[in-house]
Amino acid sequence: MSTASINGCCLSSFSASKTSLPSKFSVSARLATPPPSSSSSSSSSIPSLIQNRPVFAAPTPLITPTLNEDSIEEAIVELQKLLRAKGDLTATAEARVDQVTAQLSTPTSESIASSESVERIKAGFIHFKKEKYEKNPALYGELAKGQSPTYMVFACSDSRVCPSHVLDFQPGEAFVVRNVANLVPPYDQTRYAGVGAAVEYAVLHLKVSEIVVIGHSACGGIKGLMSIPDNGAVPTTDFIEDWVKIGLPAKARVKSVHGSAPFAELCTHCEKEAVNVSLGNLLTYPFVREGLVNKTLSLKGGYYDFVKGSFELWGLQFGLSSSLSV
Ligand SMILES: [Zn+2]
Repeated sequence: MSTASINGCCLSSFSASKTSLPSKFSVSARLATPPPSSSSSSSSSIPSLIQNRPVFAAPTPLITPTLNEDSIEEAIVELQKLLRAKGDLTATAEARVDQVTAQLSTPTSESIASSESVERIKAGFIHFKKEKYEKNPALYGELAKGQSPTYMVFACSDSRVCPSHVLDFQPGEAFVVRNVANLVPPYDQTRYAGVGAAVEYAVLHLKVSEIVVIGHSACGGIKGLMSIPDNGAVPTTDFIEDWVKIGLPAKARVKSVHGSAPFAELCTHCEKEAVNVSLGNLLTYPFVREGLVNKTLSLKGGYYDFVKGSFELWGLQFGLSSSLSV
C-alpha cells in the first residue's frame, strides 16, 4: 500500500500483478434495465445502423461531390480574400494557406493508401459482426435500447492503451473519454466544454457510479509536459502545450520531490501524479462533488504499464482532518 495526497484528500493504492488481479477487477456483464424510452422506435430488432446488407455498400461516396478539392480551394481563396479585406491575415497564416493549397493540388499516392486502410476497416467490422455482434444478440439487443454503463473512464489517446482492451470492458460497460495524456481539466465552461459535457452527461444522465482516470507508461503527452521549458517561452505547438499544461501541478510536485532523478524517471512519476491532478480537478465539477457526497459516485486513479504488463488502481477517499487547537 502507498499513499499520496492531493488537496487534503487521501489516496490509497494497491497494485495488481500480471497474473492475479483482485476480485474487484472482475468484469460482469452489467446490463441494467435501460431507462424508459420516450421513442416508440426502439424495439428488439437489430440497430438500424447495422443492416443485413453488404457492408460499405453505401450508395453515396464518403466525400460528397460538394466537398471536392476544387471547392475546398475556392473556399480557401474566398477566406483569404475576406481576411485580407479585414487586414487580419498575418504572414504566418498566409503562408499556411498557400501551403495547404499547394498540397491539395499535388498528386500523391494517397488513393492507394486509403484503399488499403478502407479494406482494413471493412475486414475489422466484418470480423466484429461475425464473431461478436451476431453471437451476442441478447447483449446487442439490450444495447440497442439504451446504455447504462457503470464506469466513466478517462484514458490517453495513445494507440497502445485502449481501456476496452486493457480492462476487457464490454460494450455498454464504460463511457470513455480519451485525450492526450488522459487529463481532466478543471471546470471551465469556455475552455473545456468538451470534457465538461462528457462528465455532465456521464454523471447526471447515465449515472455512472465510478469515474476512473487511467495513466500509462511512456506517455508522450506527459513527456511533452515535462519538456516544456520553465522560462515561459512561447509555445511551439498550436494545442498540445496548452492542453498538457493542465498537468503543471503534477510536474511541479514531481520536480520538488524527485528533482534530481533522471528525466525518464521524472516522467514516470508525473504520469501517476497527473492522474491525481485530474482526480482533484474532477472535484471542481459540482455534479461530481454532489455524487461523492451522496455516495452515488466514487473516483479512482489507475496506471497501466505496458512495458511491465502491470496495472495499478487507487481510490480517492475523503476525510475530515482533525481540527488543530492551539
Ligand atoms: Zn499517453
